[in-house]
Amino acid sequence: MDPFLASAIFALGLAFGSFLNVCIYRLPLGLSVITPRSACPRCKHPIAFYDNIPVLSWLILRGRCRGCKARISPRYLMIEVITALLFVACYGVFGLTLSTLKYCTFAFLLLGLIFTDAETKLLPDKLTLPGLALGLIFSLFVPVNDLASQFLSNVVSLPLSGDISLRIFSLLDSGLGAVVGASFIYGAGAIYLRWRGMEGMGLGDVKLMAMIGAFLGIKLTVFTIFAASVAGSLFGLSTVLIVWLKRTHRFMKRLANPQAARRRGWQSAQMVYRFYQMPFGVFLGGTALLAFFFGNQVLRWYGSMW
Ligand SMILES: [Zn+2]
Repeated sequence: MDPFLASAIFALGLAFGSFLNVCIYRLPLGLSVITPRSACPRCKHPIAFYDNIPVLSWLILRGRCRGCKARISPRYLMIEVITALLFVACYGVFGLTLSTLKYCTFAFLLLGLIFTDAETKLLPDKLTLPGLALGLIFSLFVPVNDLASQFLSNVVSLPLSGDISLRIFSLLDSGLGAVVGASFIYGAGAIYLRWRGMEGMGLGDVKLMAMIGAFLGIKLTVFTIFAASVAGSLFGLSTVLIVWLKRTHRFMKRLANPQAARRRGWQSAQMVYRFYQMPFGVFLGGTALLAFFFGNQVLRWYGSMW
């Protein structure tokens, strides 16, 4: 890794992270990410360019608006740093290649979607749909090298030059990833709706998974869905468990009858189980991020066990 290039990519990552903050704040509100200039949400004072430098401005202003001293969430700083670290990690893994560009784009989109889902339970089309298109386009230049490329290319031979047919198989892999990812989530959402009588996964999750599938291909898409379901279930169960224990403890102190306290605690846990809506996009996005760094290693390890 060239330290000069790595620092330049880190700085670029900070700048993109700063733009991502604008996207995360404005896209769920349906606002333009280009105009107007960023302003303090409280005093509406436009933010000067020297107060808009990633990380540094936040530190210099100690996380407060220069005008009205309103607190600026450390989330802004965090997203800038995470974006920059992910960009450098992509460069570290893939060097100065088109793969790095592809995975930086993917990381940028995923981070935006993870945070909008966590904060607003929305997965804006303005991120997922261009993301899906980008994933398909990138597959023409960075081989997805999944099932179609590995198996179909031996069975079917296209009347085209070797290079072009490889690109077409790669595009097919990307498209199949998108279709498999989207239909899986759509099907799971429909089953969930019937089972629980409420929407667990919306169309936003379907489009998110189509985008992830287009970037990753079928195998890593299936891995992502599986890992996200495990992580999401563990998170959901521990949330119910924590509420149960905390509420029972509180009712024990408040009520004289321990049996009644236990019953009330159990009722609270059931309420959470019934009505808590998990931002599943956060888990899908998070595991997709892990999948492109470690997924292939996990799949190889899994394959070697058989
Ligand atoms: Zn202000």
